[in-house]
Amino acid sequence: MPTAILQEKKKEKLKPAQSTASPTPIEALVETDAQCGIQTYGRLQVAFARGAGARLWDVEGKEYLDFLGGIAVILLGHCHPHVTEAIARQAATLVHSSNLYYIEPQVKLAERLHELSGGLRAFFCNSGAEANEAAVKLARKYCQSAGQEGRTEIITALDSFHGRTYGSLAATGQPKYQEGFGPMPAGFHYVALNDIEQLKAAITPQTAAIMLEAIQGESGIQPCSDEYLQAARALCDEHGLLLIFDEVQCGMGRTGKFFGHEWSGVRADIVTLAKGLGNGVPIGALLASEKVAAAFAPGMHGCTFGGNFLSTAAANATLDVLVDENLMDNALQVGAYFEQRLQAWGEQAGVLHELRGRGLMIGVELNQPIARDIMRAALERGLVLNAVGDRILRFLPPLTISTADVDEAMTKLQAAYEAVTA
Ligand code: PLP
Repeated sequence: MPTAILQEKKKEKLKPAQSTASPTPIEALVETDAQCGIQTYGRLQVAFARGAGARLWDVEGKEYLDFLGGIAVILLGHCHPHVTEAIARQAATLVHSSNLYYIEPQVKLAERLHELSGGLRAFFCNSGAEANEAAVKLARKYCQSAGQEGRTEIITALDSFHGRTYGSLAATGQPKYQEGFGPMPAGFHYVALNDIEQLKAAITPQTAAIMLEAIQGESGIQPCSDEYLQAARALCDEHGLLLIFDEVQCGMGRTGKFFGHEWSGVRADIVTLAKGLGNGVPIGALLASEKVAAAFAPGMHGCTFGGNFLSTAAANATLDVLVDENLMDNALQVGAYFEQRLQAWGEQAGVLHELRGRGLMIGVELNQPIARDIMRAALERGLVLNAVGDRILRFLPPLTISTADVDEAMTKLQAAYEAVTA
């Protein structure tokens, strides 16, 4: 159909049904998206237009305090000047060449991650799902190159979340995300989190790897115990398996250490990162030990956009600030203060079932099914947070927040709770 006719048809469709009043900016967006977008998201009726630090402003100019950080992506606050400057400079210099050639900021990023991770090598992609997809491929390839072709199976945890591509979706231990998309790739087994005996029992001669989030994010901030992670490491050593940590949500310093699994003192064979790595610019990373990384030879895996100039310039700038401004320490200190305030509020309101997490990765499980109502009421009052199901509030703010930001968030959260329960 010619473009002019299509445009006329679209205008016709987008006309408000009855009213002659022109729609507000948010109404116009909702309407156009309903007509033209594939409806994969159950969105809240807000569109943000601008951000600075832990603040956001919507298309109508209303200000919000952001305690979700784009779901653990905005590590340094919105539009951090150092990252903005690096993106702008790189955008004006060179955005893309190809992985057929060396890419200076990519090599620099690999070097920095090598240092921060205690010697892991890096491969770059664009998202968490892609990084996990690569992790599964590498684990299988490693077994094959070690002469153990039969070892192809990966054990993952129930309620885990590893992404939406087929491999990462098959790794995700939540049937609701897989329903209707079968058949899933074979070779994934799920075990209950923190059950060492079940983990032991799940290992067979076909097992290649155990893949875990040190703190599960999407399922509502569910941490692995130190004993569980230590047992997983010991089982991997005993049976010659690889231990893969999906650090897409809990990594990048959010828990007060660069990786969430560092708290339990265990060593990883493979680690995946994404989310906070580029402070909002899409980038994912697969990190692997020297021995495991050697299983990938030229031509075996690749990614057109992976590790391009723009995303790796943003990631290098993000790491500059994370390290130079001691944001991991800030995450621990402000996180502890936030936990105290949440605990006191939850107990005083009589609504707390359990508080979980570490640093600035915090989940509050309520004893009433009002989490979604609180999330909406908080949004109306200018506080961005997330609800997991109807009982868990999830907080993943920028690591730059202060105790004053926490005080402001608590005032808004309390007002939201009072409005919901009034
Ligand atoms: N792994 C974990 C732990 C995640 O939390 C997510 C996303 O929420 C993913 C993987 C998938 O990342 P992406 O959405 O970037 O593909």
